[in-house]
Amino acid sequence: MEFVADAESINPYANTDNDPSNDVDANKDGKVEPDGADQLQWPGQEYPTPPAEAFDAYKGPLTNHDLYSDAYGSVLTGYAPIKDASGQTVAVLGTDIKADDFFTVTRETLYPFLLFINFLVLTIVILAIAIIKIWNKRVDVLAELDTQKDDILNMVTHEFRTPVTRINSYAELLLDGTMGQLTPEQKESISTILDASHIMGDETEMILAAAKIKLGKLPLHPQPLDLNAFFAEIARSAEQQAKEQNVGIALSIPANLPTAPFDMQYMRLALNNLISNAIKYTSLRFPKGEGKVEFSVEIKDKALIFKAKDNGVGIPEDAKGKIFKEQMYRAKNSGTKGNGLGLYATMGIIKAAGGDIWYESKENEGTTFFVKLPLNA
Ligand code: ADP
Repeated sequence: MEFVADAESINPYANTDNDPSNDVDANKDGKVEPDGADQLQWPGQEYPTPPAEAFDAYKGPLTNHDLYSDAYGSVLTGYAPIKDASGQTVAVLGTDIKADDFFTVTRETLYPFLLFINFLVLTIVILAIAIIKIWNKRVDVLAELDTQKDDILNMVTHEFRTPVTRINSYAELLLDGTMGQLTPEQKESISTILDASHIMGDETEMILAAAKIKLGKLPLHPQPLDLNAFFAEIARSAEQQAKEQNVGIALSIPANLPTAPFDMQYMRLALNNLISNAIKYTSLRFPKGEGKVEFSVEIKDKALIFKAKDNGVGIPEDAKGKIFKEQMYRAKNSGTKGNGLGLYATMGIIKAAGGDIWYESKENEGTTFFVKLPLNA
């Protein structure tokens, strides 16, 4: 294979000086002819080529293309095979294109562009480092705030719980006559103090539970709990509340309930909240006594099912998506008694115990809350 024209092969001194190393036998006739057929042709001039047989030829794809610089400048060179009908390569067409302009343009545009990209990358990296540093500081501040919140919660727990417990136990001692007999009026006053103290204790617990749930730190301490004794106490409290608020009550609590690993305090808080809501929102609709609530316990598929049904004000449609999710949310038909923390806390407690809670409700017809708690959680 041979190139018939190549800018590189042009030697201006060929065959014209007396230096045999510059001689070229271009027409391959065995003789070096300075002024004849061996005179080198410049690209574009007619070039004597040996006669060739006719063949079907086509240009194949560009097989190579290099960009290189040498003594003659910068050149883009490419080769394409010319093949006969059988696919045999019979010649190679080569071409050189001067590429000095290309290099100049590259130098003038690509280099500044690359420099700009480098600058951009560097700026992005510096910005990213700055953002990470600021973020880390923010995380530190949040962690600090979190610790402070924990400290406040612990402080509130101690400062409120202890006095409330003391008030309760002294009021109970006074009521049962341990500290001397009281007149009926005195007994009634102490009972009122005890009720108020119970409400205060429950509210404190509810606020603390809601705050802990919000922080994702509700610590349940499950202990084997005798469900018979537990629900007997729940029933007593429910009957008392229903009586006080002039609401009819029906209880369905089976005998021989098992012992289950529940956190007694939190479980009582959660179920009492559903009970007191049922009574409160029924009394709101029927203050004169036509209201009715039903509470039932059932053991089914290794789970405890608690149901609190009422025919109270019901939950309006627009409130249904919010009552479990939003702290302090109260539907517009919920009257003035309440703070919107109870269901949020109840949900958190039930979920933390591995259980589930849901409800069915229709405004002005009533509500039923369901709680399912696994007995072996
Ligand atoms: P609240 O202290 O307001 O009762 P909760 O968190 O216990 O707070 O309840 C949130 C809201 O859900 C209530 O304000 C009320 O609108 C609605 N709700 C809860 N239980 C009942 C129910 N048994 N009947 C009607 N509405 C209810």
